[in-house]
Amino acid sequence: MEIDIAVIGGGPAGATAAKLLSRAKRETVLIERNLKNEKPCGGGILSKAFKEFDIPRQLIKKRADAIRIVSPKGKTHDISLGAAFLAIVHREEFDAALRMAAVSEGAALLEGTLTDIQHVNGQSALTIKTAAGDTSIRARHVIAADGVNSMIVKKMFGRFPRRVYTAHEIHSVESESDLSGRCEFRFGSVTPPGFYSWIFPHKDGISIGTGSEHTGEVDGYLDGMLRDSGLSKGQRRGYFIPVWDGSLYYKNGVYFVGDAAGMVLPFTYEGIYYAMRSAEFAVAAVLKNKPGLYKKLWQEKYRKRYLLMRALQRYFLKNDARMETLVSLYDNPHIREASVRLWTQDDVKINLIGGFTALIKKYGSGR
Ligand SMILES: Cc1cc2nc3c(=O)[nH]c(=O)nc-3n(C[C@H](O)[C@H](O)[C@H](O)COP(=O)(O)OP(=O)(O)OC[C@H]3O[C@@H](n4cnc5c(N)ncnc54)[C@H](O)[C@@H]3O)c2cc1C
Repeated sequence: MEIDIAVIGGGPAGATAAKLLSRAKRETVLIERNLKNEKPCGGGILSKAFKEFDIPRQLIKKRADAIRIVSPKGKTHDISLGAAFLAIVHREEFDAALRMAAVSEGAALLEGTLTDIQHVNGQSALTIKTAAGDTSIRARHVIAADGVNSMIVKKMFGRFPRRVYTAHEIHSVESESDLSGRCEFRFGSVTPPGFYSWIFPHKDGISIGTGSEHTGEVDGYLDGMLRDSGLSKGQRRGYFIPVWDGSLYYKNGVYFVGDAAGMVLPFTYEGIYYAMRSAEFAVAAVLKNKPGLYKKLWQEKYRKRYLLMRALQRYFLKNDARMETLVSLYDNPHIREASVRLWTQDDVKINLIGGFTALIKKYGSGR
């Protein structure tokens, strides 16, 4: 079978790409290995995404209007998100709805697993394993949206992107009143270095988890967090989150988007919104038949933000003293307001980014 565009992976990145390509009347097949997949994820998305990507608000299971940050010594700040909020979605339902939006724009949806990809005569030759047997597809363009364990990246580059390992559990809690309306981020030596631990509202109670670049550390830290929260060990799920390095956009007819390209915002580790954004930019490049446009659009919009967030993460999450400083910074209302703007708004320009850089320099001295 020959096709114009094959999108591999039906998560937020792939489903968004398939929707926008089909809307532009390009022949698109969206290939997802498991239509009932529930991606391990906190499911937190900034509210602006619902308007920008025309996502039905019924998919919001819970909402957080504030975040709580907790320092190594237990200092706590509750920070209101102002007009924005963090919507909590259930990933199985959310991803299925995004795929259905692609189908209603005209995309074909195939349940199958990509098992091989070859570059042949300027096209991609794909082998797809389905319940009915193997199928071969030739595609002019491929969107690689197959997530952090991307077989396309592994096959074409011989490696996976750098990754952080996470573990989390869902707990039903008797009274959620303590957490409702808030997402909690904990910093310090109770969490692995370079990362944070989280307690988020979840459809079925709370999601509690943590992560580290050192796989072996994570379970012990999560055990400690559960003990601190008075919870006993439950059903644990582990999964990777990519670490952004900004190197992967396009090769040989294949556009890399979302987690497959490592497009997760450093420090906060938000990936859903940026997966959808990267898909949008890759689609613009496909439609103009200018592969270089994808990198250009992405860099214009997000490179500075990502570099800043990576610098903040590297500096502040280095040790307990710096994490204590980080939380103390939020005593200052200007810093609270500026952080919320930086986090929740896309149109924040260099002056704010410059302001944050100055802060790092100021607080960087002597520690
Ligand atoms: C524990 C945890 C918590 C997180 N919490 C948040 C959060 O609260 N907010 C946030 O914004 N981000 C969060 N993230 C990150 C977020 O989950 C990802 O960044 C996001 O899902 C990326 O979307 P994607 O479409 O690129 O990839 P994915 O959502 O991983 O989708 C990839 C899809 O490809 C399919 N697939 C894979 N291989 C193949 C194949 N060979 N053939 C066919 N299909 C294939 C998979 O089944 C999957 O459906 C979290 C991640 C983890 C691990």
